[in-house]
Amino acid sequence: MADSLSDLLDNMGLEAENTVVATSVCSEEAVRKEFAGDITNMLEKKFGRVYKFGGLGGYPFIGKEGFNDFVGKRPDNGNVFVFFAPHIGVQNDGTIGSVVLQGQKKVTDDCLPVVTAFNYLKNTGGNAT
Ligand SMILES: [Zn+2]
Repeated sequence: MADSLSDLLDNMGLEAENTVVATSVCSEEAVRKEFAGDITNMLEKKFGRVYKFGGLGGYPFIGKEGFNDFVGKRPDNGNVFVFFAPHIGVQNDGTIGSVVLQGQKKVTDDCLPVVTAFNYLKNTGGNAT
């Protein structure tokens, strides 16, 4: 997946000299190693500097000031690229929202903030209170 994204960025003309890059992926260690780690590592290698926005669930916890600071680093006439990747676990039987982590036998919600938001929306019909 990282190679495909790298090729896509090349085809779009996004290079270290003309692009400022950020990632917003879940901070869980499992995500970094097993899913997004190869992509975030590729982006850091390709672009040199990468802002990290993501907290649990991949939600960008930087606020308006942080985003303005990030955008302010854009090269003149350059590009802004943000890789945003929330995740959700899928078990071998197709159950969505949980996994069995390496070294454990119990089933764990994954990603808990995303599962919580999904269940809230499902149970309320999408109506926020
Ligand atoms: Zn997560």
